[in-house]
Amino acid sequence: MHQRNNDYQLLKAFNTMNFLEEKILIDGVIKPGNILKVDSFLNHQIDIDIIRQIAYEIKRRFKGIPVNKVLTIEASGIAIATLLGQLYDVPVVFAKKSETANSTDDKYMSEAYSFTHKKMNNVFVSRPYLHATDKVLIVDDFLADGQAVHALIDLVHQAGGEVAGIGIAIEKGQQQGGKVLREEGYHLESIAIVESMDWEKQTIRFREQPKSVLKKTNLSAES
Ligand code: 5GP
Repeated sequence: MHQRNNDYQLLKAFNTMNFLEEKILIDGVIKPGNILKVDSFLNHQIDIDIIRQIAYEIKRRFKGIPVNKVLTIEASGIAIATLLGQLYDVPVVFAKKSETANSTDDKYMSEAYSFTHKKMNNVFVSRPYLHATDKVLIVDDFLADGQAVHALIDLVHQAGGEVAGIGIAIEKGQQQGGKVLREEGYHLESIAIVESMDWEKQTIRFREQPKSVLKKTNLSAES
């Protein structure tokens, strides 16, 4: 269990943590209702250095897997998706959200219940931007119940494309999205997996991750 305001624990914890877990511990704020707020580097202000590291690490974990498109959902996934698109040198598409379902003739349309906003969104991509030949890397900032990712998978499948993998910055392991997607057979990689968090004590526990995560200093080592 890592407590944010205890320097000794923090230092000890850093030895076994990756860059994103460290950043969450330093700058993340745990809110009631199982919400992790990371506005200072991911969801409002964007720390390009951290986003760049997330993008490199996702690409490293999908090494050898062909990808010809990166797909995310507006708004917070766009920063990560853009840097990944640059690394792969492929187009980046973000699904748009709308509360009303307009004509679906020119778009692939799905639905996702928003965990943070507590409402149903229609999610769509215009038909010219997804194809049957696409091998799509789906990315997002958070994975909670998996609603957003399942809507994106649905859009890829409607177009006849293939899901190459799913790359997530922060998975909340106490919610079911990750478990379900792995059981469905998708290759899912999450850079930080929150096992549990306690907003009263401001403590957070991460699931153990592979130790070979890239450090800031060797970003270009393996891509
Ligand atoms: P899911 O669809 O997997 O239930 O939730 C994922 C979406 O909800 C993400 O796109 C993210 O924007 C939002 N989300 C879920 N949990 C959190 C959270 O704890 N903090 C923040 N900032 N966003 C979250």
